[in-house]
Amino acid sequence: MFDLPPDHQGIKDEAARLADSLRPIAARADEADRVDADVAAALRESGLCGLTVPLRHGGRHERVDPLAVTVARESLCAVSAHLDSLFALQGIGGHALAVSGNEALAAEWLPRVARLDAIAGLALTEPDAGSDLKNIGTRVRAKGGELVVSGHKTFISNGADADFFTVLCREDEGHSLVLVPAGLPGVTVRPSPQIMAPHVLGDIEFADVAVPESHRLSAPGGGFAPVLATLSTFRVSVAGAAVGLAQAALDEAVRHTREREQFGRPLIGIGAVGQMLALSWTEIEMARSLTYRAAWQAGRDARAALHLSSMAKVGATETAGRVVDRSVQAMGRFGLVRGSVIERLYRTARPMRVYEGGTEVILDSLAKTLAKGEA
Ligand SMILES: Cc1cc2nc3c(=O)[nH]c(=O)nc-3n(C[C@H](O)[C@H](O)[C@H](O)COP(=O)(O)OP(=O)(O)OC[C@H]3O[C@@H](n4cnc5c(N)ncnc54)[C@H](O)[C@@H]3O)c2cc1C
Repeated sequence: MFDLPPDHQGIKDEAARLADSLRPIAARADEADRVDADVAAALRESGLCGLTVPLRHGGRHERVDPLAVTVARESLCAVSAHLDSLFALQGIGGHALAVSGNEALAAEWLPRVARLDAIAGLALTEPDAGSDLKNIGTRVRAKGGELVVSGHKTFISNGADADFFTVLCREDEGHSLVLVPAGLPGVTVRPSPQIMAPHVLGDIEFADVAVPESHRLSAPGGGFAPVLATLSTFRVSVAGAAVGLAQAALDEAVRHTREREQFGRPLIGIGAVGQMLALSWTEIEMARSLTYRAAWQAGRDARAALHLSSMAKVGATETAGRVVDRSVQAMGRFGLVRGSVIERLYRTARPMRVYEGGTEVILDSLAKTLAKGEA
């Protein structure tokens, strides 16, 4: 695949139109620690969240199409990380329910997820367990026909605004995945520490929260299978977001360095400055090519393409980090101004290398694949 198929180009353009309409409020939304009502209304109105849910539950494609989600995120994250996150989390939080949840439960929640009438959250991380998810302490136990969840999750996207959480718990010797509606007695959400690129984040306390047995999203002890299904479908979309962000940062730097003159000529015509931007352009095109290829393959067999999705995630987020840094450098003091577009992109790029699989964790697992001779 060397060009996007027309349907995917159409989705990319559709997302770009939505993002463009929100450009005037993007800076405000990207500083928010709760969901921005105007962004949510526009995203709801656009119908784009239908990309994150299968057709039978109100979505657009028979199965979630990773390339469609990826190109949508490329357009959204170029303008607003808040908009991008709100879109992506509908899939990341709801996918386990779509692939392995009880049909009645899926029918209850997923059409609302597709319409953005319900906001999803995925609760894996805990104070003492980030990359090492097998070490979580949150527990679920079956009791009198119900499931009882207790524990503490932290840094959960959509925090206080989520309507339900897909929660990874320990169950006996294994791990299980359980859907917990946010409004139940025993669920308390507090703000997480805010990060350099503000994000809607919450710490969730589950104090003996009882849900029906039908809220299981995995077989008892089989909780990592739907988590892996979610990662293998959506990890590559982080790469799409990173490519969009990197392109926006390059565009900012090109615009500035074409207009600003030093030593009697535009900055971009001064070799070292122009070359920095040319290198960024080259790296973005490489990242985009790998990202599209990985997303295309993920649409055929997400598990089989996980190594490519992982490479795309590392490659594109590390590229975005280098591109925003060079763009700030090329813009000199103007690149450092608080509240400027480039300063926001610079901050937004940083967490991408940590969440949904830190660079080192992903490289470690790719290295293991190489060592086994499975590449
Ligand atoms: C903006 C944002 C949104 C988030 N949203 C969510 C969410 O919705 N739901 C959720 O559950 N979590 C969420 N998180 C948490 C995120 O998933 C974790 O930050 C991530 O898993 C890394 O865990 P950690 O921060 O505890 O880092 P640690 O696990 O403490 O790792 C620290 C460093 O060590 C490296 N490292 C760790 N283990 C290894 C290893 N075995 N090999 C090589 N290197 C290693 C890591 O790459 C990293 O560089 C979010 C985080 C952020 C920043």
